[in-house]
Amino acid sequence: KTHKSKVLIIGAGASGIAAAKALAAKGITDYIVIEGRKDVIGGRMHNINWPPGTNGTVELGANWVEGVNGPTINPITELANKYNLVRTPTNWDDISVRDARGAVAEKVWGPIAEKFDAMHEEAAEMAAQRVQDGLQDMSLRAAYRMLGWNPTTPVEMAIEWNGFDAEQAERPDVSSHAYTADMHSFGPDYDFVVDKRGFKTIIEQEANAGGLGYGSQRLHLGKVVNSIQWAKDTGSSKATTNVSPTPQVTVKTKDGTTYVADYVISSTSLGVLQSPDIKFTPALPPWKIQSIFEFNIATYTKIFLNFPKKFWSDTEFTLYADSKRGYFGYWQNTKAKPYKKFFPDNSNIFFVTVTDLEAKRIEQQSDEATLDEIMVVLRKTYGPNTPRATHIHVPRWHSDPLFRGTFTNWPIGQVRQEFENLRAPVGNLWFTGEHTSLKYFGYVHGAWLAGLDIGGSVAQCIKGKCPSMPIHTTVK
Ligand code: FAD
Repeated sequence: KTHKSKVLIIGAGASGIAAAKALAAKGITDYIVIEGRKDVIGGRMHNINWPPGTNGTVELGANWVEGVNGPTINPITELANKYNLVRTPTNWDDISVRDARGAVAEKVWGPIAEKFDAMHEEAAEMAAQRVQDGLQDMSLRAAYRMLGWNPTTPVEMAIEWNGFDAEQAERPDVSSHAYTADMHSFGPDYDFVVDKRGFKTIIEQEANAGGLGYGSQRLHLGKVVNSIQWAKDTGSSKATTNVSPTPQVTVKTKDGTTYVADYVISSTSLGVLQSPDIKFTPALPPWKIQSIFEFNIATYTKIFLNFPKKFWSDTEFTLYADSKRGYFGYWQNTKAKPYKKFFPDNSNIFFVTVTDLEAKRIEQQSDEATLDEIMVVLRKTYGPNTPRATHIHVPRWHSDPLFRGTFTNWPIGQVRQEFENLRAPVGNLWFTGEHTSLKYFGYVHGAWLAGLDIGGSVAQCIKGKCPSMPIHTTVK
């Protein structure tokens, strides 16, 4: 079957739905959104009912509205207010630290945390200055070293992991000093989403308002794209401008459906773009391919555990300092005061986050093997009688072919032009998604703003006033 529309949007996450909204706002309503998942939209905003047998909800993907109470309102806060999304403020300072021998006294870890925070702030100022002075990028690790921070003990490593990896899901060693030392945001505070409908309800309701509700003619679920013909195949991929040699783009999905549109907006993740799953015809131009492969998609995995009883401290967070950096190091307490009333009384959820190589490793093994490892850690620090968790849930974002990671991290040395190439269209095939937001890559608000932006640009093209987007064919 062939479907024709003015615009086809691939992916019904925050960015895809925002792109549809921006088109509609400019009077373009002839669009179809296709989504690989069979029964749900929202993409990396995704919740499940858990633990089994309760009415609890846990967010497997995005959990915080990041950047609130600043001078400018976060657009996600606006949506959250519009749809009465239930959330509760996070207090990052409500934290305790443990190691293999038990609790670590605050007088031991407190000064280390203070030193790290002050040093990281200095690294951010230094990054801004270096960008202004036109100096070459370096790793965030190099900046840390220059500022006298050289973690060696488990506690120092845990504090550093908490201060950086918990946000970017990769190590300072591989991260850009210029682009990750200071993650831009709308405000200093974070709201933790605890809504039974899930964080994604704001996307579902925006979709509904745009005629893209479940069951609507314009939202096609279970359509996994495996081919995109974006220009006539002349055997070479010379297209380096926004002007397409062929006006239409043809997209095919695994179930044999064909979509033909004047414009296509792809919002699939950077991980999907890096995979061989979608065949582009002709091949994407070299400047585009280079930019896609040069950025990193990180993996951030929350491992949900439900225990027969609470045995941990009352603080919102507990850092576990292992001699192996990032080894089951970051625990969140759903029994802490601000969260307790939002989780079922008959649950005792204590969840731990792992990132990067640890996250990828854990995806590859059985959940029972992961629980065995976790119980060794917990029994070391809380004592041999610590009860075994009754349930474990491990999301597998990195292995999931519709995501292949969780969010973008800016690696060392990628220049602004590379980012502009990542964002630039080829022919009438446009790109959006969190990875195309310069200021807010990695975040829901980045995905949303990028979608609004690209949807607006495509609407302008349809009206004959296509904005020109820079393309750099000579980035070395
Ligand atoms: P996606 O949500 O990935 O949407 C793209 C859509 O395309 C998906 O629905 C996917 O199914 C679909 N798709 C992919 N491939 C195909 C294909 N071949 N054919 C058809 N459809 C396809 N951000 C925050 O602001 N705060 C947080 O606390 C936070 N924590 C996070 C924790 C985790 C574990 C994860 C995974 C992400 C987190 N993020 C957080 C990041 C945030 O979730 C993302 O930046 C944002 O949701 C990305 O939206 P998107 O529209 O760009 O991409």
